Order: sequence, then C-alpha cells, then structure tokens
Amino acid sequence: MRRLLALTAAAFISLPLTPAAAQDGTPGAPGAGDPYFPGQGNGGYDTGHYDLALDYEPTSGRLTGVTRISARATQALSSFNLDLVSTLSVRSVTVNGRAAAFAQSGSELVVTPARSLPSGRDFSVVVRYDGRPVHVVDPDGSVDGWIKTSDGVYNANEPQGAMTWYPGNHHMTDKATYRFTVTVPSTRVAVANGDLLAKVSKGGRTTYVWDSREPMASYLATVSIGKFELADSQLGGYRVITAVDPKLAGDATGFPERHAPVLDYFSSIFGPYPYSSTGGIVDHAPEVGYALETQTRPIYPRVPSESLLAHELAHQWFGNSVTPTLWRDIWLNEGFATYSQWLWLDKIGTRTLQDSFDAAYAPAAEDEFWQTPPADPGGPENLFHDPVYDRGAMTLHVLRREVGDAAFFAILRAWASDYKYGNADTAALIALSERVSGKQLDALFEAWLFKPGKPTL
Ligand SMILES: [Zn+2]
Repeated sequence: MRRLLALTAAAFISLPLTPAAAQDGTPGAPGAGDPYFPGQGNGGYDTGHYDLALDYEPTSGRLTGVTRISARATQALSSFNLDLVSTLSVRSVTVNGRAAAFAQSGSELVVTPARSLPSGRDFSVVVRYDGRPVHVVDPDGSVDGWIKTSDGVYNANEPQGAMTWYPGNHHMTDKATYRFTVTVPSTRVAVANGDLLAKVSKGGRTTYVWDSREPMASYLATVSIGKFELADSQLGGYRVITAVDPKLAGDATGFPERHAPVLDYFSSIFGPYPYSSTGGIVDHAPEVGYALETQTRPIYPRVPSESLLAHELAHQWFGNSVTPTLWRDIWLNEGFATYSQWLWLDKIGTRTLQDSFDAAYAPAAEDEFWQTPPADPGGPENLFHDPVYDRGAMTLHVLRREVGDAAFFAILRAWASDYKYGNADTAALIALSERVSGKQLDALFEAWLFKPGKPTL
C-alpha cells in the first residue's frame, strides 16, 4: 500500500515540469522481482487506490471496464507497466487526465505518459477496456481468474488471476484500497470485497457498489457474479454479508450465523478482526473445486465445512492482513490457516489438536510428502502442495512446544499486529519468534521449514 502522506516539500520543488522533464526518467520494471512469477507486478510506482467500474453480460460473456488507479511514482518514470492479459482490448489510457500512449504485449500493458513522472509524484491512470475475459491455467494445472459458471463468474485470483479482468500492479507487495461499481442484469447479483454501499436497479440492470477500505493485495480481490441470495446482517458484532447460490440454499441454512463464533475465537488468540465486514460467497461451482480467502468474504464452491470455514476466516489475519513478500513464502498463509483450522476443531470438540498433528506427521520418512520443505517448495507448480499446508502447520505446533503457550500466542499476536495490512517474509517470522521467546530457534526452523526429510520429534 502506498503510504498516505501529503506531498513532500521535495515533490513540490520539482514542480512545475520544465519542457526538459518530458525526456527525464526511465521505464518502470515489467515485473516485481518474484522468481515464481517474473512478469507479475511492476516497478517504479506504488498504487494507493483502485476504482473499478465493470459492466458484465453473463450470456455473451462480455465485460466493459474502466479502471482508475491512484498511484505514486517511486522513480522518475518515462513509462510504466500494468498487468492485463491481451485477450482484453485496451481502448484508451490517460495519465493525469491527458491521453497516454499504450501498447499491449502478453500480460503487460505498457503506458507512456505525455510527460514523464518525477519520482515521488502522485498520479492517476484511467484505462478503458473491454472483451471476453477467460481464466488462466496455473503452473500446477488449476484455474484462476475470471472463471465462468453456468450463471455467472466464480472469481478467485490466487496467484495470477487478477490480470484476467482488470489492469493493475498485480503483485501482493503493492496493496491498495478498492471501490467496485459493478453492473449486471437484474437477474444476477455482483458480490465484491468489503462493504456494500449501494444497490440501484434501472432498466433491467442492477449496479452494486462495494467499498474495500482496508488495503488489499490484488489476488484477494473478487467480483463474483451469479444468481445469489444476498443477505446483509449485523450478527454478534460483525457485519456479515453472504451470497448463496439458490441451489445450495437448503444446505446453507444458518451460514451467516456461523461466522461470529469463529471470528470471536480467533480474535481472542490473534487480536482484533482486521476488517469492517465479513461473510462469504457460496457458489455452486463443482468444476472449480477450491475455495479462496478473498478479502473479507471468502468464496466457496459449495457450502463449507466447519474446518474449511475456519481455514478461510483465519486467512483474514494470516495471508490477507499479513501477506507474504514472495510467493515462495506461501506457507506463511497456508501453514497458519491450517494450524488455525486444527485449533478450531479442537475448540469445538471435533478433533484434538494432537490428533490433527499426529495424522499430519504419520507419513513414513520415505514418503514423498517429506521431500518438499514448506518454506522452499521449489517452484510455482508446488505452491499449493500438501506440505505447504500440513508441514507448515506442524512447524507452528513444534514451535509452540519449544517456546511454551504464552510465548507462542504472543508471537502470533505480534505477527498479526506488527505487520497488519503489510507484508512479511519467513526471515521476519523467525526473527520475531526468537525475539519474543528469547530462544535460539535456527535449528528448529531449519529442520521443519527448509530441509527435505522427516524431522524427528
Ligand atoms: Zn488456505
């Protein structure tokens, strides 16, 4: 997230632009430097806010979009990139209200403003585009992005899908706030992150306005569309907004009420829930098969079990509020969410924490499971392999045994508060754990996170 500072004196001094400034600056980098997805994200600027206006026609699959981005240059820029697949056609781009030159190539949209942007300058970009979005296939063979369903769109964007439906700086290190204004036929509902601000129907079409006030990584954004039953209630101190596919309405009875108990429990051990609303999107999407912790409002391909609900809600602290710096550190999301799931099942008496640990630890030493160290899964094709989840969770349990309950939960609370709405990596977790516990933990983390093979207990 761009820091919300007023323009510095230095930035004012650099104004107004002299004619020579038009030639100043260099192109922003076409990637954020993440080895798993080298083209993802861009260099040279930092986004602060996205205002997305989308109009979608589910029958034809046609999307018309206007994306307004507020950003700040972090270097003098002669040009900069946004990430957007070229199956969508860009019609125009303006920078600070002036027409800019642009070119699309692969998943890069290169924008050349009429005048270069000095380092530190706030600027706005408006991109008008349209087309028929399609999902991407990830290195592990799963699909993400704009995934069409029989009645709309299942929109889950981890790790690459955001570029399939709007232009942006799509690496998780550049968080921003969002406003979504989505127009669909009135037979459909459009659900996004954050708070529902308005719903206006006119001429057979309905516009939904959603506001995500807390910063968000773009892989956690969603605009999901379908024949949903929308409910917006105050339950147990939380604003709970749910959207349920009518095919699943029977199974989903009581779904809104299930959130507060889980969030109350997690708040008691992790610290306050970081967002202004919660809820979930329950779509009938057996062809997708996975859920995602989309910010404030996870998306599920069926009615979630208690275990899955806890997993996705725990991600609101671990993954969404505290986000990794590189995709390689994905265990910081999945190991924490899996451990939280074990905690919740223990809390409600479904399965003891020790039983969850023992089941995860059961594979024999020669089992393939132990060959992937969770903090170094080896490549994007292994991002969501079991060890990232289960061995990551076991690492936390072993840490808890080593430092004791008081220090362990102090570490979790400090992790959630020190890096709230930000990014952090595995090295930061190790440093924090050693600082809070006062113990030397290198050997433990080395064995559990970085080395292939089954660690001894
Ligand atoms: Zn997860």
